[in-house]
Amino acid sequence: MMKYIRYAFLLIFTCSLPLWAQLEKPDLVLEGTVTVAQNHTHFYIPFTVPSGVHRISVDFSYDHRREEKTVFNIGIHDPAGFRGQSGSNKDHFTIGPGDATPSYIPGSIPPGQWKFLISVSNIRPEITSKYRVEIRFNSPLEDASFTLDPLEINLRWYRGDLHMHTAHSDGFCGSQNEKHVPCPLFLTAQTATNRGLDFIAISDHNSIAHYAEMRELQPYFDKLLLIPGREMTTFYGHFNAFGVTQYIDYLVAEKNGRTIDEVVHDIQSMGGIASINHPMSPTGEACRGCGWTPPAPVDMSKFTGIEVVNSGRVMDAFWDQQLAKGLRLTAIGGSDNHDATKAEDQRGALAHPTTVVQAKELSVAGILDGVRAGHVFIDVTGSRNKLLEVEAITSAATAHMGDTLAARSGDDLRLHVHVVACAQDQVHMLVDEKTTGEPLPVRDDDQALDTRWMSDGARHWVRFVVLDAAGNTVLLGNPIYVNF
Ligand SMILES: [Zn+2]
Ligand SMILES: [Zn+2]
Repeated sequence: MMKYIRYAFLLIFTCSLPLWAQLEKPDLVLEGTVTVAQNHTHFYIPFTVPSGVHRISVDFSYDHRREEKTVFNIGIHDPAGFRGQSGSNKDHFTIGPGDATPSYIPGSIPPGQWKFLISVSNIRPEITSKYRVEIRFNSPLEDASFTLDPLEINLRWYRGDLHMHTAHSDGFCGSQNEKHVPCPLFLTAQTATNRGLDFIAISDHNSIAHYAEMRELQPYFDKLLLIPGREMTTFYGHFNAFGVTQYIDYLVAEKNGRTIDEVVHDIQSMGGIASINHPMSPTGEACRGCGWTPPAPVDMSKFTGIEVVNSGRVMDAFWDQQLAKGLRLTAIGGSDNHDATKAEDQRGALAHPTTVVQAKELSVAGILDGVRAGHVFIDVTGSRNKLLEVEAITSAATAHMGDTLAARSGDDLRLHVHVVACAQDQVHMLVDEKTTGEPLPVRDDDQALDTRWMSDGARHWVRFVVLDAAGNTVLLGNPIYVNF
């Protein structure tokens, strides 16, 4: 009984804290009291920031606030001076290298003596108000995400676009006077919302400047997850980093430069994932470094994904080559949009293609985990409602897209395919790169199809694509990895 009461108390207590506060203990706590003697004064509370800090996050609270109308305004100074102030309108803020809570100034976090500012705007004569400042350094959650809480907790398929550019790199669109101008990031988020997406990764080239605006926009776009993205753009190929807001040295070069392996190692060590973009594009003067032409062998096993559909083009041969080597790399898609105002029927329009990820929640961690697991299909047409689900069943186990399955020689795999909004299309099964068996015609808007395949005990990957009557790929699913 006692145990139950304690558990219930713990539950109530922890639920009242923001998710963030439940995850990480503060590195510093500054506490004190304020009385009427300090009314209409400003005072600083000094604290020391050690070296090696790239992000500082602050939670502020005080009592006698609502009923007694106590009001404290807050701000912060680094050793060189002012880093922002938010009056009494924000109790939590974060300052990182490229992004900060609005009211605060992003940039590096110099070590040394910082000062937390309290301006006593109002306190009544009989009140003694206790305040508490919790300071956290290098919060992994705020390094990876612009929201502390998932936007939705629900196991389902979430639709998004993982590759696009804005004013912070080479995104351009028409101005009010129809001039060609850097295209505001806000328009990208608004267009993605209008097209029914659940998430976008804004992947401006090499910079971290776009994260400030993404942090500002995330509370407003509370149905559209904004994933920190970046296109690491090298002379020998492009790849996206997802889930990292810290700067990464992208200067890969044979002479006096870094290697691709070193850059990918940085992405992973900061909690992110890397995915190769448009590897089959040509490299030349028209598109410098667009194809995948590393000067030295690259450890492909450190990548999580490959962009198999870029803009409107399905390019799966490079991906298949990697799978043939025994690597598990999730096929994803990206519009590579460079103009948020581009109409939906034009090549490179936002949400074309859409990458559809099964995740347990709409958070950066949730979506990236879904990509890692390969629980992903690509909706090449950006349909908003098409669905492809695959289940493989042996006498011993069940696997879904992205899963591995052990199957001995002679084991029969029963394959269940579920497609939605694909009437009149055909489902093709590919084993390794090759079409296997007869295509399965789809008649209904919501249809379950069954087929079989017999294992020979060797390593294979089994995946499904949906083609329309003209033979165009409509949906592309990730494989079930047999004996990988
Ligand atoms: Zn690129
Ligand atoms: Zn790009």
